[in-house]
Amino acid sequence: MSTVIYQSPIFGPVHSRRLGVSLGINLLPGDGKVCSFDCVYCECGFNAPHRAHQPLPTCEEVCSKLEERLRDMTENGPKPDVLTFAGNGEPTVHPDFANIVKGVSALRDKYFPNAQLSILSNGTRVSNKDVRDALLMFDNAILKLDTVSADYINLVDQPCGHYCVEDQIHYFAELGKKIIIQTMFMKGVHEGKDVDNCREEYIQPWLDALVRINPRKVMIYTIDRETPSPLLEKATKEELDSIGERVRTLGIECSVSY
Ligand code: SF4
Repeated sequence: MSTVIYQSPIFGPVHSRRLGVSLGINLLPGDGKVCSFDCVYCECGFNAPHRAHQPLPTCEEVCSKLEERLRDMTENGPKPDVLTFAGNGEPTVHPDFANIVKGVSALRDKYFPNAQLSILSNGTRVSNKDVRDALLMFDNAILKLDTVSADYINLVDQPCGHYCVEDQIHYFAELGKKIIIQTMFMKGVHEGKDVDNCREEYIQPWLDALVRINPRKVMIYTIDRETPSPLLEKATKEELDSIGERVRTLGIECSVSY
């Protein structure tokens, strides 16, 4: 497959389906992937063949490279809609995550105060209070909840350490309206097992979890690029639209990206 490994610490801007003109901030090394999940659909590929060898960028490196890029964008464009923490894995695993968020937020205020601050995270470090507090600094803290089935999570998201979905839902619910939940829906087969989470046995428990979390918004989407596991398929537009409608009937805003 054609894996996407992003430059570090600043990349883009890219035009994001969900966020608009997005300047990327990658807190992971630029030569590989570091993630607490190993999702079968990850556009960076599986963890093992993409181990990083370079160190994590420091807070100083991130802020000075970002300032250089933002200064250039004020003179030459384009104007970013959003500064997005994303890239080669999970941004919250960076040990200096909270300080970096503060530094990036100050630079956003200085150069593009109307740009939003977003993060795409799998949420696995949400039990850490410093991480939770840092997540509150984002306009859009977009956290992953692909399902509430432990078996499905072990098959598809493949957590690299301890992961308890009940704990995740508890901490997500503590953040409530401050967060956005993102969910990947798909079909197909991985390791001979069906991975269709559009089926009712997955949808209703996931909707029940959304009621408990009560997020500001839900973003549902499906596979957009080649995946490391070769037999995955997109959910259909009709399925996504129908799931989106069910979220809205709960009184929760929902966007659908197909
Ligand atoms: S959480 Fe994101 S970066 Fe990590 S493996 Fe899954 S898709 Fe890839």
